[in-house]
Amino acid sequence: MQIAIVGAGISGLTAARQLQSQGHTVTVYEKSAGVSGRMSTRLTEFGGFDHGAQYFTAASDRFKKEIADWRKVGWVVPWESKLVSLDCGAVAAAGRTSKRFVPVPGMSSLGKQLAHGLDVRTEQQVVALEKFEKQWLLSVKSEMVPIAASAGPFDAVILAIPPEQATPLLQVHSAFSKKVGKVNLEPCWSLMLAFQTPLNLPYDGAWVSHSRLGWISRDTSKPDHRAGERWVCHATAAWSKEHIEDDAERAKDKLTKAFHEATGSPIQAIHAAAHRWRFAQATEPLPEPCLWDAKQRIGVCGDWFAVELEGVGRVENAFLSALALAKEI
Ligand SMILES: Cc1cc2nc3c(=O)[nH]c(=O)nc-3n(C[C@H](O)[C@H](O)[C@H](O)COP(=O)(O)OP(=O)(O)OC[C@H]3O[C@@H](n4cnc5c(N)ncnc54)[C@H](O)[C@@H]3O)c2cc1C
Repeated sequence: MQIAIVGAGISGLTAARQLQSQGHTVTVYEKSAGVSGRMSTRLTEFGGFDHGAQYFTAASDRFKKEIADWRKVGWVVPWESKLVSLDCGAVAAAGRTSKRFVPVPGMSSLGKQLAHGLDVRTEQQVVALEKFEKQWLLSVKSEMVPIAASAGPFDAVILAIPPEQATPLLQVHSAFSKKVGKVNLEPCWSLMLAFQTPLNLPYDGAWVSHSRLGWISRDTSKPDHRAGERWVCHATAAWSKEHIEDDAERAKDKLTKAFHEATGSPIQAIHAAAHRWRFAQATEPLPEPCLWDAKQRIGVCGDWFAVELEGVGRVENAFLSALALAKEI
């Protein structure tokens, strides 16, 4: 079959590789300039910042096996980090012992590796789906061409994007649209800080309580990341929701203040920037592993499907959901 996949995050790329290896012809459409989606690295003159997903863990045997394969080829490594809990400046042992992995040299490098050998069209936003006899046509918009162009026809189409972005495209499928419309991803403001000198904090990452920030981590403690002292901090979902329409300058100032309060470090950053993730992580998943309508040949996958895991909104969910959909197809 000729299959179109919308979204080049871990779920879209995993589905694409799997379907291509089964003999299908796959085209991936990605609205951003690069692949990886929320597993991305912001490049700056001070080095990269993994400002979305921080690391991943594996609960299922299938994902453990995939990580073992990625480790063999050097795409990912374990992150042996000292993680703690921080509460009003007090440091306590974190008590969370999962094995954590990171792609090297940055989070987005995994997506780049997975995209090798795939037909990925970047800076191409799919704005509508249309049924053309028994096939699908995509309306695709890019910066270069101001009007939407038609792509296809395709025998099947997969949406590997957050539910808020999938819903408008699912006007062509009322049952899926209704289901997907019920799921929301919570937002997250992310703060990136670079320092001239080491802060010498006695941890590499911390879950923070009683703060605007819920998580901070020393990006440069990850193996094979460019040297320096760079920290990534994530605001809590509650604070991010309340301040979702703040401009980036205002969010940056408020979160930088929270970083100093949480760590007790007075050292000022030489670089600070904030990034708003409007759709960061799901809290309430759809119970099934993916959606697939064999008659219409349209499917949906992503990290907001439960895939029999306890947690949700993680890289592992996205990976397993994509595999489940490829299997259905
Ligand atoms: C701040 C933050 C922290 C996180 N921390 C962790 C963590 O520590 N561990 C963990 O396991 N997970 C974490 N996650 C979640 C993890 O990043 C996601 O589960 C995973 O990356 C989701 O992959 P995906 O392919 O399903 O979606 P995405 O990565 O969102 O990929 C979807 C892609 O589709 C593109 N797209 C959207 N609409 C269109 C369109 N209409 N046309 C074309 N392209 C489109 C987007 O640009 C994007 O590239 C975090 C996420 C965030 C934001």
